[in-house]
Formats: sequence, C-alpha cells, structure tokens
Amino acid sequence: MPDSLRCQHRRSLLKTLACSTYFALQGCGKASVSRKTHIGDRPIQVVATTALVADLVRNIAGPKRVQVVSLMGEGVDPHMYKGSPRDVRDLAGADLVVAGGLHLEGKLIGVLHRLGHQKPVHLLGDELTTLAESKKLPDPWIRDDGMPDPHCWFDVSLWQREAELFSQILCDYDPSHASEFQTNLKNYSAELIKLDAEIRRDIDLIPADRRLLVTSHDAFRYFGRAYGIQVEGIQGLSTESESGVRRTNQLVDLVISRRIPAIFVETSVSDDNVKALVEGAQARGHKIRIGGSLFSDAPGAFGKPEGTYAGMLRHNVRTFVQAMTQDLKPLTENRSSPFKPLNG
Ligand SMILES: [Zn+2]
Repeated sequence: MPDSLRCQHRRSLLKTLACSTYFALQGCGKASVSRKTHIGDRPIQVVATTALVADLVRNIAGPKRVQVVSLMGEGVDPHMYKGSPRDVRDLAGADLVVAGGLHLEGKLIGVLHRLGHQKPVHLLGDELTTLAESKKLPDPWIRDDGMPDPHCWFDVSLWQREAELFSQILCDYDPSHASEFQTNLKNYSAELIKLDAEIRRDIDLIPADRRLLVTSHDAFRYFGRAYGIQVEGIQGLSTESESGVRRTNQLVDLVISRRIPAIFVETSVSDDNVKALVEGAQARGHKIRIGGSLFSDAPGAFGKPEGTYAGMLRHNVRTFVQAMTQDLKPLTENRSSPFKPLNG
C-alpha cells in the first residue's frame, strides 16, 4: 500500500478504534450485556451482519432451533455498509447479534456498540483475540500497524476457530440444546477439514513461481499465508482507501517480471483498478487478462453453490487455478484435473 493510502487507511481505522476500545472494556471483546433471555421453545432469532457469518451460524445452529437473518447479502461490501431501515427492525427483533468484527463492519460499529447495551452482540474476531490472549496462544491475525486484518475467513483453520467459538456462544445461550449444537460443530469441522485439504491439493497444480494472486483489494492475505500464495491487493485492507497510480505501476512491473497470465476482480468491489492494471501491462506488451471474478467479502447468491462459505472458497480456488494454468497444457494435462469447465 502506498504511504499516503496507508495513512488514510490508518486514520479510518483509528477513528473506529475508540469504539472498539469500549468493546474491549466490556470484557472478552463482547459488545454485549451478559443477560440471559428466556426464550422457551420458540426459535432463537439470530441476526448476522454478513452473509458469511450467517452461513456459519446456520451450520452450527441447524435448521430448527435458530432463525438467522443476514443484514448484508450477495455482492455487498461490508467495509462501506451503513445499514437500512429494515436492518433496524431486524436488529430490534434479534435475540442474538453476530458480527465478523475486527473492524470489518466499519460503518456499523456505532450501531453494534449501542445495541450491545440491550442484547448480546458478539464480534467473533475480537472475541478470538481475547480468547487467544487468555490461553496464551499466538495472536492469530495478520496486522498492519497493530490493526488486525478482518478477512480471516480465507484461512479455513481460522474459520473453524470462529465456528468453535460460535458453537460455545450458542451453547451458553441455550444450554438445553447444547448437544445438538456440538454435533453440528463436529460435522461442520469435518467439512472444513475436507475443504482445507481440497484447497491445498488444487493450489498444488499451479507452478510455484506462478502462485501470485493480484486482486482489487487486500482481502486475500490470510489465503496467501495459509496456502503459500503471494497476494497483492491494488487497494488496501479496506475498500475505503483509493488505489494510487504508483501502486498500479508497481504491480504492472511485478506481473510482467513474473509472467503472470491473469489477475482477478472481486464481486463486491469496483473493477476499475483491475482493468487499469491490465491495460497498463498490455501497453507494455505483456499478455494478461482478467482471470475471473472472485468472492472476497461476500459470497454468491443465497441458495446457489457459491452462496455458502465452502462454495465460495471452492469457486475462488477453481477460478484462480484454471486461470493460472490454462496456458500450461503440457504440464497439466497428465494430471487428473478436479475441475469441471467454468461457464464463460
Ligand atoms: Zn474487504
């Protein structure tokens, strides 16, 4: 990230730090009061901020005991999302509110803060930080100037930790159904372990010197750390910061020197900066294209395969691997490709 943008980004993070400090003072990183609500046999109403968090809630809660609503759906940028009148109604009716935390929902932090005086509001990432500190475990996050990167779902093992945390939250909230939630966690964890192994196997199809992922914004650093890929975002961590010409030129140099055949747009972020990078590289005679659209901060449409966390990651990995190996037929045709052809 260029220095000027880094400063701009840092200022926006510092603006929200005052609020998050308040959360930390509430104990365990929760923006919540620890009031138990007797809900009887009616379904627990959970409001999740993002569609990814809602998917995690569904997997742990199961279909019967909990009804989950996601404030943000397909293609929504959580960094910029400010909420709607309908969200106010949903939040008012919620028994439990769950957010990604770590400043992901940068514009909703005040709302979540105020709500935490009335009902349990859990910021999963922030609570994992506190949990790691209390157990003297290593800090799980990638940090910039001390601020954690919120895009942790791209490391499946971190998502699993969030699933374990949410299972505990739900067991505490509704102990009478704890065994059901624990069974759901066990099944979901098995699915995540399988997903993690699949990703490793698929990334292995890309030659080591091509394991470079260039996208619109810095959402994929956990993906890079977990699966051995160099990742470069044209924008910074938050879509609030604007990409600069200097950053674009740096990345043009990089993709040319590494002979990278494709870079990627994101479904929830404008693709202008990616197009500018492609044009910049092509103007210097380098053959490069947009390799496809990746889901970064929001999954695909609810009900579609890409509408779940696991489906979204599978789509991303398939898109990335295909684009980076397409021109390497002699190298890959002898391997059994796990991919079905992509449309378009
Ligand atoms: Zn993001």
